[in-house]
Amino acid sequence: MEEVSLSNLGLVTSLGHGGHVCPVATRTQELTVLHIDGFHTFVVAYCGCDPLLPHHLQLFDSKLFSASIDQPRSAFTFELLRQYQIHHLEGKGSAYTYIQSLYRLTNDKGFGELMVRLVTSPANTLRS
Ligand SMILES: [Zn+2]
Repeated sequence: MEEVSLSNLGLVTSLGHGGHVCPVATRTQELTVLHIDGFHTFVVAYCGCDPLLPHHLQLFDSKLFSASIDQPRSAFTFELLRQYQIHHLEGKGSAYTYIQSLYRLTNDKGFGELMVRLVTSPANTLRS
């Protein structure tokens, strides 16, 4: 059985408008989302109704904290940030061990193999 991302199946997630398609959507962008159950790749369609509303704030409105402000390509769910806060404060776990556990949840074949995929595929990098 082969794993297929939602974006490869053609799913486009619209921002703004309560999940409905924006009538003047400006562009779509592949986005790697880090959630408590691992990494996910989505294609998002940004709302174009307010051209002054930056993409990272549109993501924030959807409870996603973008890894960068300029042309975000990855984001963290608020739920993940809360879980990491507890992980760090209560368990004294580092960001490294937390991210490593997310790697394992995404692909339990081995840390090294996933890192190769992350490094070789710009769409799957952690940085934007
Ligand atoms: Zn719109």
